[in-house]
Amino acid sequence: MKVLVTGGAGFIGSHTCVELLNNNYDIVVVDNYSNSKPEVIDKIKKITGKDFKNYEIDICDKEKLDKIFAENKIDAVIHFAGYKAVGESVKKPLMYYRNNIDSTLTLLEVMNKYNCKNLVFSSSATVYGSPNSLPIKEDFPLSTTNPYGTTKLMIEGILKDLYISDKDFNITLLRYFNPIGAHESGLIGENPNDIPNNLMPYIVKVATGEYDHLNIFGNDYDTIDGTGVRDYIHVVDLAIGHIKALEHLNGLRIYNLGTGKGTSVLELVNTFSKVNNVPVKYEITDRRAGDIAACYADVKKAFNEIGFKATKTIEDMCRDAYNFVIQNKKY
Ligand code: NAD
Ligand code: UDP
Repeated sequence: MKVLVTGGAGFIGSHTCVELLNNNYDIVVVDNYSNSKPEVIDKIKKITGKDFKNYEIDICDKEKLDKIFAENKIDAVIHFAGYKAVGESVKKPLMYYRNNIDSTLTLLEVMNKYNCKNLVFSSSATVYGSPNSLPIKEDFPLSTTNPYGTTKLMIEGILKDLYISDKDFNITLLRYFNPIGAHESGLIGENPNDIPNNLMPYIVKVATGEYDHLNIFGNDYDTIDGTGVRDYIHVVDLAIGHIKALEHLNGLRIYNLGTGKGTSVLELVNTFSKVNNVPVKYEITDRRAGDIAACYADVKKAFNEIGFKATKTIEDMCRDAYNFVIQNKKY
């Protein structure tokens, strides 16, 4: 089976390429490297010892994408490509709507033309907005609080409409919770060049001395220790979730990909310090606008229907995230 991976050089895409190759799928990768680097492709090849075709294109470019489908018999697509920074999406909404929506529409039109009707799409737990109760189930009401989240919700809507119009499509929407960690080889991982918005990349930069301290956004939430609670999932577990989704493509399906377990900011910081034997200085500051107190997944549906269960621990996530940055000495 040949799988086209859009955004395959990115954080989640690269780990998924490794799992696909390890599971003997043929892959074709497309990426414009707007938020990744071409050397990631070589690292995927190094980890797996396997070769594959990759193309540097913007998938909004229909002619170029068409050529890739003409050159390769694509059976299924995993669509990661898109912009993902919440704060940036508030400042540059048009850029987010243009890239995330346009790339998806272009991809779907080309897939349709080549009769490729199998798709796994990267959605996000952000589509649940502020949930009324926890854990979050797939049938909870959907809403968003920023343009990035709205692009995910709009794309989910587009895919649902497409499926209604053409039942030959098999589409699985995966709603990721908070992916962190890195491949245990230390060759691929997450290390944003800009000031990170997300917690783990920030913790890593404090641990390496690049930043003086972490600001913890509030300690007066109704949670175990007052700090925000999230469902952190190891990126390798998340990647394996895509293999399960591919294996079970059938009609329109929606799954949460998380661990089902909530971890507070302080718990994550303390675990990171302990497993890596490194101090992480922090200060408590005001709550971040738009943050919710707690968010974690109900993971039963993914387990019952596609047999997915995350196995890696918070310790694994902390160790692998730090190991990646130390090995790459990007600080
Ligand atoms: P990433 O930025 O590391 O990867 C996305 C990749 O897509 C990058 O390599 C980028 O260069 C590429 N890309 C972007 N626009 C493109 C275009 N028009 N044409 C070709 N390539 C393009 O992000 P990630 O963390 O790997 O996330 C992958 C997907 O998962 C995204 O759709 C993201 O919204 C979604 N997601 C991520 C998270 C998270 O916390 N990382 C959570 C939920 C959902
Ligand atoms: N957080 C924090 N300091 C930071 C970044 C994040 O205290 O510098 C907190 C944030 O308030 C939330 C948790 O860490 O409770 C996870 O934030 P992240 O942005 O990684 O994920 P999201 O909030 O989008 O789920």
